[in-house]
Amino acid sequence: MSNIVAIVGRPNVGKSTLFNRLLERREAIVDSIAGVTRDRHYGKSDWNGVDFTVIDTGGYDVGTDDIFEEEIRKQVQLAVEEATSIIFMMNVEEGLTDTDYEIYRLLRRSNKPIYIVINKVDSAKEELPATEFYQLGIDKYYTISSATGSGTGEILDDIVRDF
Ligand code: GDP
Ligand code: MG
Repeated sequence: MSNIVAIVGRPNVGKSTLFNRLLERREAIVDSIAGVTRDRHYGKSDWNGVDFTVIDTGGYDVGTDDIFEEEIRKQVQLAVEEATSIIFMMNVEEGLTDTDYEIYRLLRRSNKPIYIVINKVDSAKEELPATEFYQLGIDKYYTISSATGSGTGEILDDIVRDF
């Protein structure tokens, strides 16, 4: 069975930037199951020779959290159903929000491995502000910069090891 990694998080945290980085030099898959896959992007990637599928969730990227109840909940639900591993992305620029708490609450209902990623840590000076995310009650998070790719290797090492 193939491994499927879904990137979940509220609008603007950087999901599509990470998705595109993981798919570098590869073609995105245009999925034929319209309706089910509308607003979701699928692609193939690999790390250290291990192949996996990546899902970029978030056709709800309208720039606000207001549509949370309908769209984000739906996207989280689909991700949990489809994925074998979940990347839950937040970002240090905007910090921890009520929506992040809500998404994490929904994700924790699943038994899928969840990798908590704090994006937009573009330099060492963002490491200290990122510690606010421990307020979620978590033991570990990964700090990355999807823009530069820094930190992405460490999380991929752990994800493929857990497949
Ligand atoms: P999405 O809505 O979660 O898919 O987020 P996007 O990938 O579309 O990114 C939202 C904005 O954040 C864009 O302007 C990106 O260029 C920017 N962005 C994404 N990743 C990073 C990062 O690591 N650092 C910085 N500074 N900006 C980022
Ligand atoms: Mg996006």
